[in-house]
Amino acid sequence: MNEAFLDELRALGPALLDEPLHRHNTFGIGGPADVYFAAHSEEQLRAALRAAHQHDVPVFILGAGSNVLILDGGIRGLVIENATEQVEGPTPNGAGFRVRAASGVSFAALARRLSFAGYGGIEWACGIPGTLGGAAVYNAGAYGKSLLDNLKGIRVVDPQNGILELRPEELTLDYRNSAFTRGALKGHVVLSVDLSLQKGDPDELRAHVRELDARRLAAQPRGRNAGSMFKNPAEHPAWWLVDQVGLRGHRIGNTEISQQHTNFFLNLGGAKAVDALALMELARSRVRERFGIELANEVAMAGEP
Ligand SMILES: Cc1cc2nc3c(=O)[nH]c(=O)nc-3n(C[C@H](O)[C@H](O)[C@H](O)COP(=O)(O)OP(=O)(O)OC[C@H]3O[C@@H](n4cnc5c(N)ncnc54)[C@H](O)[C@@H]3O)c2cc1C
Repeated sequence: MNEAFLDELRALGPALLDEPLHRHNTFGIGGPADVYFAAHSEEQLRAALRAAHQHDVPVFILGAGSNVLILDGGIRGLVIENATEQVEGPTPNGAGFRVRAASGVSFAALARRLSFAGYGGIEWACGIPGTLGGAAVYNAGAYGKSLLDNLKGIRVVDPQNGILELRPEELTLDYRNSAFTRGALKGHVVLSVDLSLQKGDPDELRAHVRELDARRLAAQPRGRNAGSMFKNPAEHPAWWLVDQVGLRGHRIGNTEISQQHTNFFLNLGGAKAVDALALMELARSRVRERFGIELANEVAMAGEP
C-alpha cells in the first residue's frame, strides 16, 4: 500500500491494515480489508475519500454491514466505516418537522428516539439495523412503508469531492433499489439524509413501536445474518419459494437457511462466504427449475472470492 496515502490517512485517525471484515458486518463473514478507517465526522469522511482519490486507491463504504456479503478474499484498497453520527433537529418545517441526520446514524435508533419523543410517521423503521446511508441506497422499508415515505432529500459527495443535494425523485427509489444500486451514482457517497415527520402522541407512538418490535421478534431468527438474502419476486415472497423447494434448515458448511425464516441465512460460527454463495445458488437454481422464477439478490456482494 502506498506509504504517502497511509501517512495522509493516519493524519486523520487510526488506519488498520489487513483488518478482518467479518468483525464489521452482521453476517460475521468476510476476508480482510487492505486498509480500514472509521470516519466519525463528515469532514473525516470527505478527507479520507479525497486522499484515496488523489492516490488512486479504490474505496468501499461500509455502513452497519447489515446488507452485505463480503467475500472470503476481502476488499482491496480502503474500506471506510461510516461512523458519522451528527443529528440536527427536529426543526419545524411547514406543517411538520424536519430532521437532518448524518448518513452513519442508525436508522432504527433514530426512528425509535424520534417516535418516543412524539414525532410520528417513522415508527416502521424502528427495527431496521443499518445506517441511513445504507437505507438511502436500498430504500429500506418494512410494513408497507419505505424511506421514500419520509424522505425530503439527501446530500452526497461526488468522486471529485463536491457536495450535491438530491431530491427524492432524483434517486428513483423503489423496492430495494435506487439510482445507487442501478449504477447511476457510481462513486457517490451519501453524507446526510433529510427526513420529514409529524407531531404525534408519544404514548401511542411508543405502543406502535412495541407492537412492531413484537412482530419482528416473532418473525426473525436470532443469530448472525444479513437480513433477507433475496428480494421478494412479484409472484410469491422469497421465503415461501425457498421453503417450497425443500431448503428450510438446509446447511452448507457453517451457513444454514433459517428454520424460522427461509429468506434468512445464519452463520452458525466461522462461516465462509463460499458456503453462503453455494446456498444462495442452490436456492436460486431449485426455484428456477420448479417455478421458473429468478431470485434476485437483496444482499450486496463485495470483495474478492
Ligand atoms: C436482522 C436484519 C433485519 C433487516 N430488516 C430489514 C428490513 O426490515 N427492511 C429492509 O429494507 N432491510 C432490512 N435489513 C437489511 C439492512 O438493514 C438494510 O438494507 C440497511 O439499510 C443496510 O444499511 P447498512 O448501513 O447496514 O449498509 P451496508 O450493509 O453497510 O452496505 C450495503 C451497501 O450500501 C452501500 N452504502 C452504505 N452506506 C453508504 C453510503 N453512505 N453511501 C453510499 N453507499 C453506501 C455499501 O457500499 C454497500 O454496497 C435487515 C438486516 C438485518 C441483518
